[in-house]
Amino acid sequence: MTAPFVVAHLYRRRMNIYGDTGNVTALCRRLEWRGVAVRVVSIDEGDRFEFEEADIVVAGGGEDSSQLAIADDLVSRSEAVHRAVRAGVVFLTVCGTYQLFGRRFVTTDGSEIPGIAVFAADTIGGGRRMIGNVVVDSPWGSLVGFENHSGRTRLDPGQASLGRVRRGFGNDDTSGFEGAVVGNCFGTYLHGSVLPKNPGFADELIRRALRRRTGTDPDLAPLDDAVEERAAAVAASRP
Ligand code: GLN
Repeated sequence: MTAPFVVAHLYRRRMNIYGDTGNVTALCRRLEWRGVAVRVVSIDEGDRFEFEEADIVVAGGGEDSSQLAIADDLVSRSEAVHRAVRAGVVFLTVCGTYQLFGRRFVTTDGSEIPGIAVFAADTIGGGRRMIGNVVVDSPWGSLVGFENHSGRTRLDPGQASLGRVRRGFGNDDTSGFEGAVVGNCFGTYLHGSVLPKNPGFADELIRRALRRRTGTDPDLAPLDDAVEERAAAVAASRP
C-alpha cells in the first residue's frame, strides 16, 4: 500500500461518549502493529470530506441534544454517505449515529430527528433506559459492549442485524436483535468502546477495508490479544 490507510472520525466533537474514540485508537494500533501507516481525519459539522477517500469511517454515540445538533449536517451528507456505502467504504456507527443511519429517531419528548435511511429501521425513544453490559452472538464471534439508550430500534423485515442478544437489550427489549448491517456499513448499540474489546470484529472491519483498497484478500498477521480478551471476559461477566 502506498498512500496511508485513512480512518475518518465523523462527529468526534459531539458524538463521542462511553469511550467511543477508543474505536479509532484500536483501528490505528492494529494497523500500525502490522506495519500499515494510518492517517486519522476528523470530520465535524460543516467540514468538507469525500467519504470515498476513507478506508473506514467511525462515528460514535451521544445524547439526544447532540444528535439534534448534528442532524442537519448528516442529512446534508446523505447522498455522499449512500454513495460511499454502495462503493464498499467500511462504516462503524455506534448508538446515536447508528440511530440516525436509520430513517428517524423520535426522542422521549416526541421530537423527530431525521436520519439518512442507510438502515431500514426506525428508532422510538421512551420507557425504561436500556443500560448495562451486552453480549451478542454475531457472525464475527461473540461481541461484548456497554449500552445506554432510550431509543428502541425496530428493523424492517429483511434488514440484517449485527447479531442476536445473549445478554442485555441491543436494539430493543423484545426482538432479540442487535445492530444492523448493510454491505460494509455496520450499526451497533455497543459502546465501551466496542473495538478494543472485540479484536476479531476490529480485524473484520480492517480486512474489508483492505480488500476494497487492494482488490485481494489481505493476510493479516495475528496479534497478541490476551489483554483484549481478558477485558471482554470481565465485561461479559458483569451485569
Ligand atoms: N440519545 C440516544 C438514546 O438515548 C443515543 C444514546 C447513546 O448514543 N448512547 O437512545
